[in-house]
Amino acid sequence: MGLYDTLIIECPACGHESEVQVKSGPCQMQVYTKDNAPLNIILDVAGRVLTCKECGADHKLTLEYRTKIVPSGDEGSRWKNPIP
Ligand SMILES: [Zn+2]
Repeated sequence: MGLYDTLIIECPACGHESEVQVKSGPCQMQVYTKDNAPLNIILDVAGRVLTCKECGADHKLTLEYRTKIVPSGDEGSRWKNPIP
């Protein structure tokens, strides 16, 4: 039996929620949205062109992120946003 996780993607055109099966993660039959999915699941789906089964519109998930290098042991500032 093939296990997988599911990412729910909402169509930007009509709002229909589609389920995308993802096999790159822990595959524990978990259901995620773009807001709570582990990064590896987002990365697996990002860039794929998805076609809405309801309205036929093509869309894809993109990922915006930034990286940051901090002094080792500087845990206190880890979650601070330096941008005013
Ligand atoms: Zn749609």
